[in-house]
Amino acid sequence: MISTQTTVPNDPKSKPHWDAAIKGILLAQRCLDCGKYRFPATWQCAHCHGRDAEWATLSGQGRVESFCTFHKAYWPSIKGQLPYTVVQVMLDEGIRYMSSLSGHAYAKPEIGQRVKAWFDPVSAELTLVRFAPLVPEPS
Ligand SMILES: [Zn+2]
Repeated sequence: MISTQTTVPNDPKSKPHWDAAIKGILLAQRCLDCGKYRFPATWQCAHCHGRDAEWATLSGQGRVESFCTFHKAYWPSIKGQLPYTVVQVMLDEGIRYMSSLSGHAYAKPEIGQRVKAWFDPVSAELTLVRFAPLVPEPS
């Protein structure tokens, strides 16, 4: 499991996102003026500059847009976990999320691969959002 972060990021604007992740819910801000989602949390919409937003539950589903496999340990705590893969997911709601795939140290995602969020409690106060391949329901 790749993680060097064990405490909640020090950004009060994003606190609702991290509090919901502990409960297994993926939240992002949604602009009350234009309806677009935004993440990380901001005080102003990048699309319409509106300042009013609500927290909305996301589907957690999206597509792998890009990925990178690291073979060098930039943090000593993960030296034993090399290589590991970081994915950039375009969520169906139109926001990008960077994380790992399946929580495995080394994964080989495909561009366009459908994925779904899952929640990884890495400490008592922090749950990270990770992604796993989305397997279609049998028909
Ligand atoms: Zn807006």
